[in-house]
Amino acid sequence: MSNPALRDEVVQLAQALIRLDTSNPPGNETPAAELLAEHLRAAGAACELIGPDPSRLNLIARVRGTREGPSVMLMAHTDVVPAPTDGWTVPPFGATLRDGRLHGRGAADMKGELAARAVALAEYARSGERPAGDLVLVAEADEEGNTADVGMSWLVREREDLRCDYAINEGGGILLDLADGRRVVTISVGEKQVSSLRVRVHGTAGHASVPAAADNPLHHAADATKRLLETEAPMEITPVVTRALEALGAPAALSESDAIEWAARLHPILADELPPMTRLTVTPTGLKTYEPSNVIPPYVDVICDCRAVPGQDEDDIRGHVAGALGDGYRYEMELLEPLAGGTESPVDTPLYEACREYVAARLPGAELLPLVSPGFTDSHWVRGAFGTVSYGFAPVFTMDLDAYFDGVHGADECLDVADLVEMTEFHLHALRVLSR
Ligand SMILES: [Zn+2]
Repeated sequence: MSNPALRDEVVQLAQALIRLDTSNPPGNETPAAELLAEHLRAAGAACELIGPDPSRLNLIARVRGTREGPSVMLMAHTDVVPAPTDGWTVPPFGATLRDGRLHGRGAADMKGELAARAVALAEYARSGERPAGDLVLVAEADEEGNTADVGMSWLVREREDLRCDYAINEGGGILLDLADGRRVVTISVGEKQVSSLRVRVHGTAGHASVPAAADNPLHHAADATKRLLETEAPMEITPVVTRALEALGAPAALSESDAIEWAARLHPILADELPPMTRLTVTPTGLKTYEPSNVIPPYVDVICDCRAVPGQDEDDIRGHVAGALGDGYRYEMELLEPLAGGTESPVDTPLYEACREYVAARLPGAELLPLVSPGFTDSHWVRGAFGTVSYGFAPVFTMDLDAYFDGVHGADECLDVADLVEMTEFHLHALRVLSR
């Protein structure tokens, strides 16, 4: 980084954020929002703490636009998942610097990224540059829990003024060294839809002392679980997947499924992420009965996690489950909540170009690789409410990826300081390019 003061600033801010325990539950994100507000106010940004729960406030920091031009939102959540001390070799909330890495809960997901976005906006504000459209940082509560309706879900409903043209959030920017020597950098442009499903498998109740007299539904539920685990939904190639295969240079002669297999061999992360991008998954994650242990229950609930590709609906889930289970026993199914998420942003945008340009300058020859995330991020809220073009992108170009991904929601979470600095530079670049 050309300016060593910015490096110190982003490291210190990330450390201060990590030292505030915002484990969710319960969250208690307000001190993190206050810390950021103090930092950004000193730089000249207008700051507002807001939310329905005083202990879980969100920060909106804004540098006002001065003329016609696109508005840009930098997003990051202030909460973290809890940090059981098992497996940690440093205190989870100590923000230890060791071997060029910043350690602690949230270093990677996502207080490092949050600090980088805040410092980029602070630097922009201090520079006296006058943006075209508004530049906004939203530091939101409750992303990890996503059930209390105090964070982004609340903000998009209550604050129409958060409507922005572009948003940058978590979920991409990972440099992948491919098996054939080429390099790509991921950018998350969409998300799968998420729901959960209850398949209630029936039998007949009875006393466990005379097991032969009952039709034990556990027998059927075990079979249903096995069938759901073994049945793959048909492949569904969305435009993003087509574009990803193009970016990877998949040979045109290959069938879709061969192209996915070919691409999966290029990198272990692609082997993990590409197949779920192309199919509905219905994954059993629990079995429930509601009787004491001496009763053969009348039914068993098979609880499943459902992830549908953008464009699919409840009928696709029902059709898949019915096909997997056949008609050997009685069951009914119910979605436990409506399908949520599943939004996608187009890639022919100035923000995509700003990311591509940054990657091309920093890593000559590397391509951007658009992906659909199997998980759920707050990008979904701004895409859904405002039609904002939102991408997951924050450069991780230096850090060992195994250590990076092991730490996210795991022990010894850490981020290479070089990447923290890189993230700051990237966001400053994006703000300057988009606010011209
Ligand atoms: Zn996160």
